This record gives sequence, C-alpha cells and structure tokens, in this order.
Amino acid sequence: MNRNGQHMNDGRPKHECGVCGIYGHEDAAKLTYFGLYALQHRGQESAGIVVSDGSKVCLHKDMGLVPEVFSESILQGLPGHMSAGHVRYSTTGASNIINTQPLMVTHKGETLAVAHNGNLVNSIELRNDLETKGSIFQTSMDSEVVLHLLARTMHLGLDRALSESFSCLKGAYSILLMTSDTLVAVRDPGGFRPLCLGKLNNGGWIVASETCALDLVEAKYVREIEPGEVLIINKDGMRSLFPCVQQKTSYCIFEQVYFARPDSNIFGSNVYETRKRMGEVLARECLVDADFVMPFPDSGNYAALGYSRASGLPLEMGMIRNHYVGRTFIQPTQSMRDFNVRVKLNPVRSILEGKRVVIIEDSVIRGTTGRSRVRALRDAGAKEVHMLISCPPTRNACYYGIDFPSPTQLVAAGRTVDEIARELGLDSLYYLSIDGLVEATGLSFDSFCLACFNGDYPVAPDLSFCKDALEI
Ligand code: SF4
Repeated sequence: MNRNGQHMNDGRPKHECGVCGIYGHEDAAKLTYFGLYALQHRGQESAGIVVSDGSKVCLHKDMGLVPEVFSESILQGLPGHMSAGHVRYSTTGASNIINTQPLMVTHKGETLAVAHNGNLVNSIELRNDLETKGSIFQTSMDSEVVLHLLARTMHLGLDRALSESFSCLKGAYSILLMTSDTLVAVRDPGGFRPLCLGKLNNGGWIVASETCALDLVEAKYVREIEPGEVLIINKDGMRSLFPCVQQKTSYCIFEQVYFARPDSNIFGSNVYETRKRMGEVLARECLVDADFVMPFPDSGNYAALGYSRASGLPLEMGMIRNHYVGRTFIQPTQSMRDFNVRVKLNPVRSILEGKRVVIIEDSVIRGTTGRSRVRALRDAGAKEVHMLISCPPTRNACYYGIDFPSPTQLVAAGRTVDEIARELGLDSLYYLSIDGLVEATGLSFDSFCLACFNGDYPVAPDLSFCKDALEI
C-alpha cells in the first residue's frame, strides 16, 4: 500500500504489524523509533509512537515508513520515560490515517493507548455487543474493541480490567497497552505472534515483536512474553497475570518461514538457522540433478544456503536484487514484458545461459511473481528451471493476522503440484513436507498453527469475518 492507499501488489503475503514499547528510559520515544525502524518489515503503511512522562501523554502517528513519519524535532516533542510504538500493515480496517496506531482514548480522565499485532476472530461479535451497550467506535479496526472493553471495566482496577477484557478475546494478539503510568504487554494464549522482553543498559525495559529491535538499542534479551501472559510494568516493578483459559500453543509457523527477520530469535530459535535447516531437510527430501541452486533474493537465501550445503550443489546468485527500488516507480510508457520483475530482480545471463537451475523459494502465494521470474530466467538462457519451496502448499486462508488473498487467489488452492508447476512454467516443483518443516524448527508438531497448510484452525475462525464488512 502506498501513501495514496494503493496496494503495491507483488503477489507476496503481506506482513502484519510490529510493536515496540519502552519503560524506564528518559529517551523512550527515540528508542522506540529505533525499535520500530528494526521492525519496519512487519508493516510499511503507517507508524506511531505514544509516550508518557507519568502524567502527560503525547502521541504522534501518520501514514508512511518510520523515518518518513518521525523527524528529530517530532521525537523531541515526545518527552517521557515510557512509550508504545507501532508499525502497521492493515489486515482489518482500511489503510488510512484514522486507522493508524497506537489508538488512544481518554476515559474518565485516564488515557488508554493500544498497539496491536494480530487479528481477533471474535471482534465483530464483540463490537456488535459493545455497540448495543452504547459504545461508539471511531475506527474500523478490531484493536479498538480492546480499548472499549478496558474502558468499561477500569473502575474495577487495572488488574481486574485487564483480566476481564482479555478473557473475552479470541484469536491472535500481541498487544502493548499504556496508561499514563503503566505499560502492559499481552500475548494471546496460543502465542500466535512473537513478543519478547529485553533489558536496557540503564535498567529499563523494552518489549518488542522481534529480538532484532532489542539488538538495535543494545538491549539484552530476557525472555519471550509467555502465551496467555499479561505483563504489567510500572513504578512498583513488574508482575504477570494469566487471566485466560489455557489453550494449545499455536505459534504461527509462517513467522519462521517468511515473516520474521532472519536475525531475530522467535519461538526459541534463530530464524536464519531455522530457514537454513528447512533447506537441508528439502535436500534430504528432494535431490534434483542440476548445475546449481539459487534463491530469488532475498526470500529464499537461507534455505538455498542450507540446500546447497546438504546437497553439494553449488550456490549461485543468478538474479541480482536492486536494493534501491522504492515503493513506487514510474511505469514505462510502452508495455515492457516483466518490467516490474526485472526492475527489482535482474537475471545474470552469463551465469544462467545453458544451465539447469534449482530455485529455492520460501513460499508461493498467488504465483504471479513466480511465473514472471521463471520466464525471466528462461529468457536469460536457463535450460531447465526446477523449483523447491521451503514450506508445504498454502491452500487455506489465515484468520490470525496475515493478509493472504482469498483461497480463490492462492495458486495452490484446488491444484495439484503438477498443475502448479505448469502454471508457473517450471520443469519440476517440490514442496517441503509438513513434517519436514516442523522438524526444521526443532519444536514439536503441537507447538504450531499450520492452518494455512492443513486447514486445522487452532481457534475456530468467525466465518462471518470479512475485511470489507469492517470497512463499511
Ligand atoms: S494460518 Fe498460517 S499464516 Fe495464519 S497464523 Fe496459522 S500458520 Fe500463520
């Protein structure tokens, strides 16, 4: 999505959101800025930071990338020792300034702010119920439901309000909440989205979606926020509540496959190493007689490295990525075939000419980009093009915060692997098995949500859920 609200459709699944909060540092806004900068891959539509000095709360947010939204002078105008920040890609609610986060309201003289990563599957039901009871919603985001639930229960005290509110929610949420004097970090009982705690050099705290945010501000990793945990940080110290009914752990395996940054550690392991192991398991499952293996940079880089090491096939970079392509560029005046592909990834003809090539990809969603890239490789002289994917076919929708297209637009939905290979113009195609994928993570099958691959949804989706319905 660009600043004018137009989707930049590259056929890839969209990231969801990232959150970063600070407690106990006089430069909270600036540290949050750096944390959000590290989490930019999780959302590029808008960014926002709310800060408090213990009594006065200030918020700045806008459409755009983190460095576009914040300048040195804007950050100086956000004084305080605690903060909550957010980068957004919209999965519910339209992409516009009203729906940027953190969301902030004042209720009976107390400020409440929320920054949310994930999707509530019962938000429509809760919203209808709250509206019947008189709540007036300002946005079309599911995150606003959280503020209304809290506002209705704050008279019971913070702990009771948090317990009552979060025990109503169903779905995926890693949330930062702020009052004027307290920072709260919450992770849903399935633990779909990552959320971790770190310690700052001065003894203060940072909570962030991924550990790469901790690294940038030189914070020490402490631990993950537990699934179902409500962590409260204020002048009295830190304490945890576990108000929700326990449920099966449901880490989103797509975070390991594609979403999280490779330098982050999530769900107990490093993303780079996990992706490399996916490539190693792929090599065990499917050896291809070819001249070399290559990724489409950067998505398949680490699995390609693992495949090359395990198979003995040399690794080459047969396509070069232009790192300076902005989110928009002027289209050529006359139709130039595959222009959008070549402006980002250009094949290296001398490497490819006459060669049998194995491409490693992390995922294929719509298939549109894959098709153009394969054609570009053949145009550059590749003799055979085989593709190995480091996850199983993606055949089902995600209701937990990942913006996959509807199943009718998923290239793997309703097609056999041979049919997909033909659709993409490949000589052969192989997908990593679901067992092989889980094996590469080092965790058990039970630890993950795998619903987009096997249709087994760990939290029953509200099938009336519809993005459009929320945008009315
Ligand atoms: S359905 Fe897929 S993308 Fe969505 S949470 Fe589950 S594993 Fe992740």
